Parts: sequence; structure tokens; C-alpha cells
Amino acid sequence: MWIPILQTTGSVTLISVVLAIVISFAEKLLNNYGTCKIDINDGEKVLEVEGGSSLLSTLAAQKIFIPSACGGKATCGLCKVQVKIGAGPLLPTEEPYLSAKERTDQFRLACQIKVKNDMTILIPPELFSIKEYIGLVEKITDLTHDIKRVSMKLQDNETISFKAGQFVQFYTKPYGKISETVFRAYSVASPPADNTHVDLIIRKVPDGIATGYAHTALKEGDEVRLSGPYGDFYRRGGEGVNTLVMIAGGSGMAPMYSLIYDIIGKGLDYQMYYFFGAVTTRDIFYLDEFRALEKEHPNFHFIPALSGSTEGDGWTGEKGTVVDVMLRHIPNADGKEAYLCGGPGMLNASTNALRTIGFTDETIFFDKF
Ligand SMILES: Cc1cc2nc3c(=O)[nH]c(=O)nc-3n(C[C@H](O)[C@H](O)[C@H](O)COP(=O)(O)OP(=O)(O)OC[C@H]3O[C@@H](n4cnc5c(N)ncnc54)[C@H](O)[C@@H]3O)c2cc1C
Repeated sequence: MWIPILQTTGSVTLISVVLAIVISFAEKLLNNYGTCKIDINDGEKVLEVEGGSSLLSTLAAQKIFIPSACGGKATCGLCKVQVKIGAGPLLPTEEPYLSAKERTDQFRLACQIKVKNDMTILIPPELFSIKEYIGLVEKITDLTHDIKRVSMKLQDNETISFKAGQFVQFYTKPYGKISETVFRAYSVASPPADNTHVDLIIRKVPDGIATGYAHTALKEGDEVRLSGPYGDFYRRGGEGVNTLVMIAGGSGMAPMYSLIYDIIGKGLDYQMYYFFGAVTTRDIFYLDEFRALEKEHPNFHFIPALSGSTEGDGWTGEKGTVVDVMLRHIPNADGKEAYLCGGPGMLNASTNALRTIGFTDETIFFDKF
């Protein structure tokens, strides 16, 4: 009775092994695109690369770093690149991120298109100056129950030149059950004047890969790979602007911290109104530091607002959503620019409210986390 069963099992195993070999051979054959040429900015740079990977990772391997917050999952839509020749048809995963105008202008998501043949692409020239860095983690500080500040010193005597408000990409290493390396966008919290350090403020996201790494695996003394700077969230200070209205929640604190200390460090005399939204007192941080800063610099005003219950916790500050609180203090848009940072809900509510008092697309700047 056992012999036929063993014979059948043996045949099935043999067929599976043969099929696996055939599939792997066919995959190799089909995905072998050979060497492909990528022409960047009308011949400014021409790369010879091995085909088969995404345009995003192919360029990164050649030290050309296209901004991406999600690490290639087509969930952030940041890695837009103009592909004049060689991208193939638009993919369904790209559609939600490209406007009609962008499609006409041949923009594509670099994380979604594969390098399979010669390509001609256009990228903003400033992307050539983005570099990779190794940061040594000098200090990890708990700011709240779910937010940490990670302070890193750049290694190899490197310095970073960036504008307050910009972000870097932070690369994780495999840890625990996570076997992959991913990268995510984090705004630099330290001011640009300190060009040998990069500080990040990272809020833990449930089941998040990068935030899980930063909160549970990363230790002081570890080395971390970063690239940057990226992004267009920085102070404009347009003509006639004398007041900056800043609105943030949670880890949206990071770029604001850099902006505030940059302005103070440069001795600029903008009036700064910083509205920081949180639910309860356990979500508030830097309260003492900013209270002291207000005393030292009368042009800085810190207005934290709690939207949750404050019963019994001695809170004497503003209550309500950060948007309502902002409207109680800011009557109009005269001479003002607004800088917002946080989740989509808070950003949409803030933008709508700012428009009702006269702010426009030209005077509202934001980074959506
Ligand atoms: C320009 C820019 C700057 C940023 N700066 C910062 C910063 O300074 N500090 C900071 O903490 N974050 C910042 N982020 C967000 C950050 O890039 C990551 O998206 C976030 O930390 C989650 O990464 P993860 O790998 O832990 O989660 P993932 O593994 O990518 O996601 C895990 C799960 O959590 C969900 N998720 C992802 N992000 C969030 C979120 N923010 N809230 C709730 N659920 C989420 C996903 O849908 C998924 O289900 C920034 C994003 C952008 C675009």
C-alpha cells in the first residue's frame, strides 16, 4: 500500500522541481533586458545600466536620488519624473497620482516603471546635488509615549546643506521579523546652521516598518544611511510678509522646529505664531523649551491646543481643534504666510480655514505626512 503512495509523492515532487527550474529559467530569460542607456536632461548625464529594475532604484544605484516618501510602494506619488522616451504605457498604479497636465507632459512614477530599454528623462538639476550620508546615532530621546527624537552625527567629516523644512530619506536595516530594507521620508528637525548633524522626530505608526525600526531596533551608537536633502517645504518670506503662521500636529513638529530655530538663529524679525495641535497633555512636547524661547524672543508665540479631555490634568492653555484655535488668534492674511505640517485631515481643515480669512495658494505652504 505504501509503495504507490511513495511513488505518487515522488512524481509530484519531481514535477514541482522541474516546473520551478523551468519558471526560474523563463523569468531570467524574459527579464534579461541587457544594458540600457538612460539619457538625463538632454545629454547632461548618460548612464549605462543593467535593465530589469525600477527607474527609481536604478537611478539610486547610480547615486541619483529621486524624492520618495514610501520607498517605492506607489503610495506617496512623490517620485515623479518626466520620461520623454522609453517608459511604456501608463500603469493603473500611477493613475491616481498624475494630473491630466502631468500625463500630457509625460510625467511618470519612477518607482513603478521598469528600465527595459533605452530611456530619455528630465529631472530637476538640483537632484544631482542630493548625496548619501552615514549618520552615527548619538542620542535617542523619548519626547512623548509615541514620538522619539533621533540625533545623528554625520560621519566621514561630511556636512549637509539644506533649507529648514526639507526632508531626508532614512534607510532601515532588517530587524525582528522584517527582512527587508526600506526607506522613508523624515523632515530634518535640526536647524541648517548645524550642518554636521541631522535630527529626526519620528512618530510610531502601528505596524510601520521604518517607525518600528526607529522605535524598537535602533540604538545609540548605530550607523544609519540617509540621503537628501529633498522637498520644497521651506520659508519663502515673500514681499511684504512680516508674520508666519505655523500649524502642526504630532511629528509635524520636526520641520517647524528647524524653521523656528533657523529664523531665530539668523536674527530675522518675523512674528511667528506656532499652533501645535494635540489630543491630551501626554501628546504635547517641547512645552517648557518653547515657553522659555517665547520669553527670550518676543516675536515667537507658541500656542498649543488640546482637542481631547483636559479634565483633572491642570491644563490652562487653549482647548479645541488647532484650526479653531488658530482662527481665534489670526483674524486675516495681511502680511502673512502659513506653513502647515501633519496628517491629511489636519492639513485639509487648516487650508480651508486659512482660505476663509484670505490666504491663497501663493501664501500657504505644506508638507503632508
Ligand atoms: C515629506 C514627508 C516628510 C515626513 N516627515 C516625517 C517626520 O518628520 N516624522 C514622521 O514621523 N513621519 C514623517 N513622514 C511620514 C513617514 O515618511 C512615514 O510614512 C511614516 O513614518 C510611516 O512609515 P512606516 O515605514 O513606519 O510605515 P509603513 O510600513 O509605510 O506603513 C504601515 C502601515 O501604517 C499606515 N501608515 C503609514 N503612515 C502612517 C501615518 N503617518 N499615520 C497613520 N498610519 C500610517 C500605512 O497605511 C500602513 O498600513 C513624512 C512623510 C513625508 C511625505
